[in-house]
Amino acid sequence: AKSAGGNRFEFADPEADARAITRHGLTTALPAALDRGEFFIEYQPLVHLGDGTVRGAEALVRWLHPQHGVLGPDRFIPLAEHTGLIVPLGRWVLEKAVRQARAWQEKHEQTGPLRINVNLSPCQLTHPGLVSDTVDILEGAGLEPDALCLEVTESALIGADDDLLKPLRRLAEMGVDIALDDFGTGYSNLANLRRLPVRILKLDRSFTRGMQQYPADPVDLKIVEGIVSLAHSLDLAVTVEGVETSAQAEQLRILGCDTAQGWYYARPGPPERLHELALVDATG
Ligand code: C2E
Ligand code: CA
Ligand code: CA
Ligand code: CA
Repeated sequence: AKSAGGNRFEFADPEADARAITRHGLTTALPAALDRGEFFIEYQPLVHLGDGTVRGAEALVRWLHPQHGVLGPDRFIPLAEHTGLIVPLGRWVLEKAVRQARAWQEKHEQTGPLRINVNLSPCQLTHPGLVSDTVDILEGAGLEPDALCLEVTESALIGADDDLLKPLRRLAEMGVDIALDDFGTGYSNLANLRRLPVRILKLDRSFTRGMQQYPADPVDLKIVEGIVSLAHSLDLAVTVEGVETSAQAEQLRILGCDTAQGWYYARPGPPERLHELALVDATG
């Protein structure tokens, strides 16, 4: 410890220094990483709770950093948002994922189309190119708009004015589904939901944690039951995240949730993996 004057002592924190350096290093490395093709996408299946079939997947971006190995999105998405790189990075993810969804469809016609969910950052929402880029990407890949779902966090839409909602409305009119991600964490006014061009609520993992064991926490059950009935009365489908156990899956199915995602079914993985999972469902 070295004296920092007066009666205060400051302790050197090498870990905090290392984190700060890494953050700075990662931020400056981001643009070149996109050029060098260091990003890749893992896909996590979305499973229909009623019949257990794979209906699609969420695209989750990763960075294969030459020194640090594979970095999860929580490490670099905030940095990319801060620097604006999220716009070209997000466009890259969308294009790659949409092409992948088209490839699945072509391989896979007999079992029905697999849909693709892609996360949108708030910065992409306010970017003027969102609608035209999305149209170009869908047309370029030959994917129908209704095979695409864009996930927007609840917090990004809290208090959203009409200017912010306009591009989402345009996309929804074209047939793209909009999902409200991390639902339940943002304290949004439930009545507000009617104003949003949203078709799907993705219930945050924090709500399903109390259902890992059987019987579930009764308060958690009541809350989820209430959300599901509200959502269905507004014609919204409910997807649940973070399903890790069969007890959760079963209780959420009984509560009427429509679709589930989580380690119980599969961790995020390479695109070939999803194809295998979907085929297994189709044949057995
Ligand atoms: P999210 O959209 O809420 O994605 C779900 C996260 O939960 C993913 O973390 C996923 O790997 C993880 N997960 C899935 N199933 C389970 C489970 O059963 N248990 C637990 N404990 N976790 C589970 P991941 O891949 O680290 O992504 C973190 C966040 O990064 C995402 O949260 C999303 O907000 C953001 N993100 C990922 N890809 C993109 C992207 O392409 N663009 C943008 N803007 N954000 C992205
Ligand atoms: Ca998401
Ligand atoms: Ca989420
Ligand atoms: Ca999340």
